[in-house]
Amino acid sequence: MRSIVITGGNGYIGSHMCKLMNKKGFDVHIIDNHSTSPQAPVHKYGTFHHFDIADKKRAIELFNKIRPESIFHFAARAVVPESESNPMLYYNENLVKTISLLESAIEGGVKKFVFSSTCATFGEAGSENISEDTPQNPINTYGRTKLLMEQVMHDLASKDLLDVIVFRYFNAAGSCPEGTIGENHDPESHLIPNIVRAHLSGGLNNFKIFGDKFNTPDGSCVRDYIHVEDLVMAHFEGFNYLDKNHGFHDFNLGSENGYSVKEVVTAFEDITKKELKKEICDPRPGDPPRLVGDSKKARKELNFKPQYNLGQCIAHTLKYLTTKNEK
Ligand code: UDP
Repeated sequence: MRSIVITGGNGYIGSHMCKLMNKKGFDVHIIDNHSTSPQAPVHKYGTFHHFDIADKKRAIELFNKIRPESIFHFAARAVVPESESNPMLYYNENLVKTISLLESAIEGGVKKFVFSSTCATFGEAGSENISEDTPQNPINTYGRTKLLMEQVMHDLASKDLLDVIVFRYFNAAGSCPEGTIGENHDPESHLIPNIVRAHLSGGLNNFKIFGDKFNTPDGSCVRDYIHVEDLVMAHFEGFNYLDKNHGFHDFNLGSENGYSVKEVVTAFEDITKKELKKEICDPRPGDPPRLVGDSKKARKELNFKPQYNLGQCIAHTLKYLTTKNEK
């Protein structure tokens, strides 16, 4: 059986990657230290190895034993405001530990590396949609750590030590349509689950809009929401792409549609037919006004075709969190 390793496979995007690779017939091995996800596995789509990605001894032992075709690397800290208040945590957890994992991959004979990067590596890109050619000037520590990792991988690939594919996502959203796995951080910082949580509180908690004076049509930030199942399908295509395309490759993954925070709230209210209690708050540090992707390269090279729209991202998150809430 073909085996692969997924780091952070107990987390949001990682768990959906496990589900897909399990369905595709792979022997899925998960390295997760559960530092930002629940202590217990949230799914049954692979074998869990409870250790830190920086544990070189255990990582190399595992790679020697199962001989994975690829590592899909999702384990990371990914909260912009936290990266601003605690930058060393981000340099250690994201950059230092990834370098250790890369070293283990090379020593353990793994050739393919699929990396979860972010549109936060671009910083304030203005009103244009962001392509792979847009200059990368991150404005927060989270984005900087991901850009530095990309640069390390680019260097290693250019020296033929690994074949690397980097995916820069815009805003991952939604959950599997059946509502069994999904986005559930504690504390939660992301827009759609926070809207759902405010709704499920039955009016107890206001939904907070972070800033309405940005230079955007309605003053709130504009983002490009892309369904998590569309994202992981692109990773699978990328993994296959590396068979014939060696070296370093980068792709932006977005839906190419921008929605403001206020528009997402309205879309949510249209689905639930209930008005959400909301308040305008100060903007969060490090939030760029507009991030919308240009995914032409992924569409052309990887046949990337997002299947889900914003309404489905919202509906699936609502289903997942409602089910969880009822348990
Ligand atoms: N946001 C908001 N209220 C929330 C969570 C997020 O207004 O409770 C805004 C946030 O300031 C940003 C947008 O929604 O402008 C998307 O934020 P999210 O954290 O989902 O993703 P990011 O773009 O920061 O990765």
